Amino acid sequence: MAERERFHIGPIEGVRVGRFGFGINTTFIVYRIDDTLIDTGPPNQWSPVKRFVDERPVRQLLLTHHHEDHSGNAARLSQHLKLTPMAPEPGRAKLARGFRTPPLQRLIWGRPEPVETAPLAAQLALSDGSPINPIATPGHAKDLTCYHLPKQGWLFSGDLYLSRKLRYLRSDENLTQLMDSLRRVLALEFDTLLCPHRGPVAGGHEALSAKLRYLEQLCERAQALASQGKSDTAILHALLGPEDWLGHLSRYNLSKINLVRQALKVPL
Ligand SMILES: [Zn+2]
Repeated sequence: MAERERFHIGPIEGVRVGRFGFGINTTFIVYRIDDTLIDTGPPNQWSPVKRFVDERPVRQLLLTHHHEDHSGNAARLSQHLKLTPMAPEPGRAKLARGFRTPPLQRLIWGRPEPVETAPLAAQLALSDGSPINPIATPGHAKDLTCYHLPKQGWLFSGDLYLSRKLRYLRSDENLTQLMDSLRRVLALEFDTLLCPHRGPVAGGHEALSAKLRYLEQLCERAQALASQGKSDTAILHALLGPEDWLGHLSRYNLSKINLVRQALKVPL
């Protein structure tokens, strides 16, 4: 399987690719606005990504963070287009050196190749001159960066959104930082949110705000149960239900218990 869906939202185009179509967590959307490309898709989806990219000239390529579903074709695109992808500073060393990914992720996304990147330009803009403002939003990953286009009211959210109701967390995610990042982005004005997994979300500001409220409530409830002496597992069962196949299959790298344990640490 290759190209799964196309998106056209005004001047924004997107292509959804993915080896497996189990849901939004196994597919990925590469977005393009004119000659600006945002993220590159997973390494095992090079053919459909290349076809999409070859439809128009590309002037600049921006990465939201180093995870392989976002950066996985950056090395090939760099060679193919003869340009250097730009990446947020905290992820550049890891991108250059390469990194290992767990077996389940390798099955879904393939194996990423190391890639040399350039720092984000000081004045990022679309070809019509309208600004693209990078917003550092750590939590999901240290280098996660959203791209805000204030003139158009767009937010390219990387993995900041994903869902109104987060149920799993990676073992390396920091929920306190993630919630601070949601607050930072909610101080901006935008309407359409471009999530590379969920797809375009109209009313994106409200959706992100709902995600923050959900997480705040989850933290309050988890901490209230902990103060009554409940164990992490009892809190997990009460709030999110038992761990499911994703948690077990990923060896708890992507699991509900990670979310519960982080929710207990968030200062309220
Ligand atoms: Zn990610």
